[in-house]
Amino acid sequence: MTTVDLPLLPLGRGKDLDSERGVECPGDLPPASDPDLVARATAAKAALGERVFVLGHHYQRDEVIQFADVTGDSFKLARDAAARPEAEFIVFCGVHFMAESADILTAPEQKVILPDLAAGCSMADMARLAQVEDTWAALEEAGIADVVVPITYMNSSADIKAFCGKHDGAVCTSSNADVALEWAFAQKGEGTKVLFLPDQHLGRNTAVLKMGFSLEDCIVWDPRLPGGGNTPEQIQAARMILWKGHCSVHGRFSPDVIDELRAKIPDLNVIVHPECQYEVVTKADLVGSTEFIIKQIEAAPAGTSWAIGTELNLVKRLAEARPDLNIVFLDRNVCYCSTMNRIDLPHLVWALESLVNGEVPNVIEVDPDTEHWANIALQRMLDLPGKTHKD
Ligand code: SF4
Repeated sequence: MTTVDLPLLPLGRGKDLDSERGVECPGDLPPASDPDLVARATAAKAALGERVFVLGHHYQRDEVIQFADVTGDSFKLARDAAARPEAEFIVFCGVHFMAESADILTAPEQKVILPDLAAGCSMADMARLAQVEDTWAALEEAGIADVVVPITYMNSSADIKAFCGKHDGAVCTSSNADVALEWAFAQKGEGTKVLFLPDQHLGRNTAVLKMGFSLEDCIVWDPRLPGGGNTPEQIQAARMILWKGHCSVHGRFSPDVIDELRAKIPDLNVIVHPECQYEVVTKADLVGSTEFIIKQIEAAPAGTSWAIGTELNLVKRLAEARPDLNIVFLDRNVCYCSTMNRIDLPHLVWALESLVNGEVPNVIEVDPDTEHWANIALQRMLDLPGKTHKD
C-alpha cells in the first residue's frame, strides 16, 4: 500500500513545535487587539490599488468580508479572479483548495495568496491522492476500473481533480452534480459506475434524490479498509461508490433538530445545503448551494420563518440583511467552519502590508502537470449542458 501523506493541518510545524502549520507567519502578524487593523487594511489595499483583487468566500468572517472586492462560492470566485487579468495579486479569503482552483484558472503571472496557510478544508483533506490511487488499484483488481468514472466535487485538492482528469472523469459543484452524474453514467455504457469524491453526502443525495438510484445502489468506500469495507459482491453490484468523506460543518445538522424546530415554530421553512446528511435533506423543504440559499432568503416574503442549515457566518449575515424574517440556525451549537475562520483581519492585514512592502507571502502554486490534468477535469464540467456552475 502507498504511504499516505499527511493532511493539511498537522501539529508541530514551523519553529514552534506546538504550533500549527501556517499560524506562524514569516513577519509581524499584528495582534488581534490592534485598534488600527481596519485602517491598516484600508490603507494597504488603497496603496495596492488595481494590483490587488481580494476574494471573499461566503463563509468568511464579517471583519474580512468588508475588504472583499467580490464575494461568492468557490467556483464563482475562481472565475471572478480569472476575469481580472490586470490584478497582479489575488488575495483569496477562503480555504486552500479554492486558492488552488483560482491559481489553475488565472494567468501564470498572477499570484494567488492565501493569508493563512492553515486554512484548509477538512472535507478536501479526507481524500488524499495516495488513498485514491490505492482505491483505483483495488478497483482494477476487482476488474471494474474500466467502467468506473471518477467525479470529484469542487471541494477537493488540485491533485484529486487532476486524477479525475487523467481517468476520464470530471469536477462538479453542488449545483451541477446531477448533470455531471448524468454525463458520467453515459460514458462507459450500461454498466457504468461512478466513484464520487470526496463528499459521500452530496454524492448520495444527488444519486438517490435527483437521479432515481436507490440507497442500495450506493456503497461507501472507506479508504482505511480493504475493499473500502465492502465485499466483492457489493463492489460489483454498486452503481455509486461514495468516498467516505464529509463536511465537518454541514455533516453536523441532524433530523432531530428539524423535528424540534418544526414543533416550536409554525410554518417553518427548512433550507439546507446538499452536503448535509441524507436524513436531513429528506426532511428539509428546500435543498441547494450557498448561492441558492442566499437567493431564496433574499426573495422570501416578509414575516416568514426559516431554519437554515449552512455555515454560521453566512446565516448570521442573511439574518442581519432580512430583519423582517424569522431566521434560525439549524444546529443547537455554534457551527462555524473552523478552517475558514483562520483567515482573520490580522492575517489579511499582514498579507496586504507584505505586498505593499514588496514581499509576496503564502503563494499557492499548483505544479504544471497537476494543473494540466485538473484543468481538463474542470473543462469537462464547464462543457456540461445547462445548469449554472456554482458551489
Ligand atoms: S464548510 Fe465544509 S466543505 Fe466548506 S471549507 Fe469548511 S469543511 Fe470544507
